[in-house]
Amino acid sequence: MTRPIRALIDTYALEKNLSLLRAKSGNRFLWGVVKANAYGHGLIGLLPTFDNWVDGLALLDPKEGVDIRKAGWAKAVLLIEGIFAASDIEMADEYGFETVIHNERQIEWLEKAELKNTLRVHLKCNTGMNRLGFRPEAIPQVLFRLNNIPKVEVVDLLAHFANAEVTYEQDKPVTVQNQLAALIQLRGLLPMCLSNTGGILWHEAGDEAVRAGIAMYGVSPDGNVSSQSLGIDPVMTLESEIIAFQDLQPGEACGYGSKFIAHRPTKLAVVACGYADGYPRKDNPHREVVVEGKRVPVIGNVSMDMLTIDVTDLPNVRLGSKVEIWGKNLPVNEVAKGFGTIGYELLCDVNQRVPRVLIK
Ligand SMILES: *Cc1c(COP(=O)(O)O)cnc(C)c1O
Repeated sequence: MTRPIRALIDTYALEKNLSLLRAKSGNRFLWGVVKANAYGHGLIGLLPTFDNWVDGLALLDPKEGVDIRKAGWAKAVLLIEGIFAASDIEMADEYGFETVIHNERQIEWLEKAELKNTLRVHLKCNTGMNRLGFRPEAIPQVLFRLNNIPKVEVVDLLAHFANAEVTYEQDKPVTVQNQLAALIQLRGLLPMCLSNTGGILWHEAGDEAVRAGIAMYGVSPDGNVSSQSLGIDPVMTLESEIIAFQDLQPGEACGYGSKFIAHRPTKLAVVACGYADGYPRKDNPHREVVVEGKRVPVIGNVSMDMLTIDVTDLPNVRLGSKVEIWGKNLPVNEVAKGFGTIGYELLCDVNQRVPRVLIK
């Protein structure tokens, strides 16, 4: 018998979300962003579904690109942070990856490279995010330099929004509006690839290509907006089972640090899910899971492989009862909020030891 925790991955939900994003993207080029193993969902198994809807896949590590080529992915592949070493260029050349160029060093590597095939590059512009890219005023010169490298073809200008989420305060120093304004002088120079999920859903960026991430997986980019209201369905349900019970008398405690102390006769259940699976150990008074359609509190300290829940009010639970950690009935964004983080982080943190089970 294998340990009962698993991440159910609903490919029907993925299809639905992709069809919605496809429609919202119109005839713009649609990149599906699949960094971090498809936001923790398991990239390889989802390739056939992505193939039905996206024009290309954007990822971080050139090795992931090789993996998907070997698995049969024939459409475009974009290295979303570009090459990390000169040697990555050979890999890009061989496997036909497109790459972002965001700094001088990458250009120097390209100038020295001997490309066999045309390399499609996306020039990254820093419009206020201040992580990667050249400032708008530097772009014409950088473009000139890139255009002088044999076999290098600059495809578009790529920029990234810092605050595309709809409920983010508009008094932030960086807004979609001022990030777009920073690009005005560059319109017409190159096509643009600007929007992430928030941009696609909530802004008119006037771009020719877009990069959809989190909404493909059925999770809202904005923790204050439900996925339901966006018409998307969660793809991942992290599920486990009850593997033990304990009956506690008032005054008895449970777990490391005796964090939980019973104030009434308490029926406690042990669930096969711990911080080594990706459930945060961080203190949080709002932790809940769903058992038999009902929310019950997580109590005590989460341990490496187990957590404990209070099922005193659920008389019918038994060994093997299913426990939803997050997913269809408990949005991952809601769980994340209790821990002071975002759904993205919890999804990416699901450990490799948790099997991804495709529903198709
Ligand atoms: C991760 C990422 C995206 C996707 O962002 P979502 O908010 O998940 O849609 C788009 N563009 C870049 C450059 C990224 O790194």
